[in-house]
Amino acid sequence: MGSGIVGIYGFSRLWRMARFIYYALLALQHRGQETCGIVTYNGKGELHSHKGEGLVDQVFSKPETLEALEGWVGLGCVTTQPEKDPARIQPAHVREPVEVALCFDGKILNFKRLMEKVKPWKPQTEAELLALLFAGRLEKGLHPLEAAVQLMGEIKGVCSMVALTGRGEMVSLRDPHGVKPLAIGSFGFDYGVIASESCAIDVIGADFKSDVQPGEIYYFDEYSIERRQAAKPQPKYCAFEHVYLARPDSLINEVPVYDARIRIGEILAEEHSVEEVDLVLGVPETAIPFAVAYAQKTGKPFGLGFVQTGRRIRSAIKPTQFERLVGVQLKLNPIKSAISGRRIVLVDDSVVRGTTTKNTVNLMRNKMGAREVHVRVGSPRIRAPCPYGTEVPEKDELIAAHLTPAEVSKVVGADSFHWLSVRGLVKALGISRRNLCLGCFTGKYPIPPGEE
Ligand code: SF4
Repeated sequence: MGSGIVGIYGFSRLWRMARFIYYALLALQHRGQETCGIVTYNGKGELHSHKGEGLVDQVFSKPETLEALEGWVGLGCVTTQPEKDPARIQPAHVREPVEVALCFDGKILNFKRLMEKVKPWKPQTEAELLALLFAGRLEKGLHPLEAAVQLMGEIKGVCSMVALTGRGEMVSLRDPHGVKPLAIGSFGFDYGVIASESCAIDVIGADFKSDVQPGEIYYFDEYSIERRQAAKPQPKYCAFEHVYLARPDSLINEVPVYDARIRIGEILAEEHSVEEVDLVLGVPETAIPFAVAYAQKTGKPFGLGFVQTGRRIRSAIKPTQFERLVGVQLKLNPIKSAISGRRIVLVDDSVVRGTTTKNTVNLMRNKMGAREVHVRVGSPRIRAPCPYGTEVPEKDELIAAHLTPAEVSKVVGADSFHWLSVRGLVKALGISRRNLCLGCFTGKYPIPPGEE
């Protein structure tokens, strides 16, 4: 399951953080559109929570819902996992052995072994398991920072998380490999923020400070923020973040996502240029920086070929099978006058199964009258699933795992088709290859994915 997480700690009891968490979750919506939730602490009794299935502005559509979430500390989460049962939706919230709420992004690889450690409890989700492990340490009287250090030592897998104790302390942790991003920011001495991406820190008016380093823990209480490097960093940053997952206005692992995408477009142009071109288009929106840079590098004109209908993310009302058949272009409607009679380079952000690319090429060529359509992809070939929580389909569904670029070109009906090389991606990121996870592009995983 993929997620976007946020935790905010206000250094005055007058703060009401639920609205800030709501805005931060809106900024993280691209990381998960299936469920979301917020938990807050107001110093009176239990933690307060509201969670549900749907987008952030659907689950928190009533102002009174946020109003009821009082408190100067809180956590929030969006996820990619559809789930009807609120008990299984993040943030996880356990009341025994002591109260803890927790949001998490990643994949716990030693889930079964850790399940043994929390008996007699039977956690239903990875987030609940982590909450119980953490709560167990607190019950033994450990300080939350020490409890988090022990937790980091117990987990095998990929984990960026933020937790809230029943006493209003907040702790965040990024595992030593740092596969999933995590950032820290603050608003002067007023509040501190932990979030999956820096864009969530920006939108609430706070200042981004830095990435939370792999192996690093932050602890917040009403007097201070404490930092602990609990394990030696062994970075294996997810390379797919900069290609596709993250927002272009975020800075991840010290590399601005937008800059990386511009360099990807330039390298794509160096690797696979086309001689005779009338127009370069970027589809979908994530691919626009690739396309802009591709056009600049090759000296060809960049243009708009499609217009978005409705919201950028999936609509709550989905087209029926009939509506799909008659061709409701809910997502992107082509601009015929921009495409008709032209030789087009279509820059895509990633090609997974190939069906969307096939539909787009078919639409441009057969309905809009494009003379030529050359597809260039700003991601290397996606050949293998992700064992660390990012939703990549199984290998038998991945077009790049089975076909050469020339074969894919035929399948999608393009004049030519090329992916970015893995070497090109590493160069564009400017991060040493040994510090990256490139597993879904190479099939080689830096952390053994099976249960030990
Ligand atoms: S396998 Fe792919 S998506 Fe998963 S962490 Fe590695 S690079 Fe990222």
